[in-house]
Amino acid sequence: MKNLITLSLIASIGLAACGGTQQEQAPASDASMTVQQDSTATVAYTVEMVDNKKDPTCGMPVTAGISDTAHYENKVLGFCSPECKNEFTKNPKASLAAAEMK
Ligand SMILES: [Zn+2]
Repeated sequence: MKNLITLSLIASIGLAACGGTQQEQAPASDASMTVQQDSTATVAYTVEMVDNKKDPTCGMPVTAGISDTAHYENKVLGFCSPECKNEFTKNPKASLAAAEMK
């Protein structure tokens, strides 16, 4: 009987210690991961970063939002979407006039 009591005491102490450490660590790691994801998601191109006023492919003003950029002749061009950037790179010379460079 003595052996059984000793074993149950060790088991209950071990479980309590284990549960305590888990509760402290889990929320902390979750919070730091969420903060990192938010900071990368909010990084966006701004009008100040590009040299054109309008998306040369669709004619949309860059103030409406830039989701991709392309470098052309030492200029940075902003595009509303990667698709518009792809269209521009196919024939940049013809599209450049529509970009209305600053
Ligand atoms: Zn566009």
